[in-house]
Amino acid sequence: MTRFDPDLVFFEPKALEYPVGDALYRRLKKTGIPIKVTPSHNRVTGIPGDTPAKAYANAKRTLVVGVKRTMKLDTSKPSADYALPVSTGCPGHCHYCYLQTTMGKKPYVRVYVNIDEILDNAQKYIEERAPELTTFEAACTSDPIAVEHLTGNLKRMIEFMGRQERAKLRFVTKYDDVDHLLDAAHNGNTRFRFSINSRYVIKNFEPGVSAFDSRIEAAGKVAKAGYPLGFIVAPLIIYEGWEDGYAELFERMSRELIPEAKQDLTFELIQHRFTAAAKRIILQNYPATKLEMEEEKRKYKYGKYGRGKWVYQGSDADRLNLHLRGLIEEYFPASKIEYFT
Ligand code: SF4
Repeated sequence: MTRFDPDLVFFEPKALEYPVGDALYRRLKKTGIPIKVTPSHNRVTGIPGDTPAKAYANAKRTLVVGVKRTMKLDTSKPSADYALPVSTGCPGHCHYCYLQTTMGKKPYVRVYVNIDEILDNAQKYIEERAPELTTFEAACTSDPIAVEHLTGNLKRMIEFMGRQERAKLRFVTKYDDVDHLLDAAHNGNTRFRFSINSRYVIKNFEPGVSAFDSRIEAAGKVAKAGYPLGFIVAPLIIYEGWEDGYAELFERMSRELIPEAKQDLTFELIQHRFTAAAKRIILQNYPATKLEMEEEKRKYKYGKYGRGKWVYQGSDADRLNLHLRGLIEEYFPASKIEYFT
């Protein structure tokens, strides 16, 4: 099982006034991990590292425990109506990770302890929109399972959604540490998604997160616990032997999942893309990466606000799309493909 144990921890003093913060402090104190005080979880200073790559790696080994003050929720279209974060950052080291650009100067792993206030606030949003359904995404700025053993916040959120008539939750993970969520009273209101990939992509580009087999086994357990299940297959990468790599993935998933889970299964398919800014940061954080980011092999796709991304050229994108759709049709004919992008 893959679990994050920080090398260094920062606490906001206010975090100790909440049961989750107090319990976490007592637990960490016993382990001997150095604990420091930070006046704000937004401005953490003193994480060591004499090169950008080392500072980045050390930040990912650093836990920051704070109180979430901003209660205005960001929208999270098209995945959900609102983002509902209880943590930010991630101890994983996926070379292509979008958090490298979106989290900018805050690559450390941060957890919020005021979960009751966060859920009370979500309740207000649900009530304001009633009788319409409100959907929340818990993984916009983090992998929530990576820190669940520290706070238990995700389970509280799943059970909160389980009690709602007009709300749904979804999140995505690359971690296999799911046992403690199997008995949660989810009431079918949480879609548990795994981000998954071929063995080659996981081995070469996803250090620090759970391995190919254990991730699929975790999905099997989640399916048996009756959660609606989904897979984000991303980033889809073309490499020598990619067709066989993705075929192995689907065959393995099909063997692991119980028949009931295959009836209500979603797939999101996302081809690898990069921006100029992301390429620069990725090469700084992971100078030896084998991730292919050659503009001449790609097509520039303009975004809504002018800034675009490098995606695969039309014929390559078509090959990926067709191959993946063929595999889904073969192994999971009753599932829903939400999108290929
Ligand atoms: S698991 Fe997700 S959030 Fe964590 S490093 Fe990998 S891509 Fe980023």
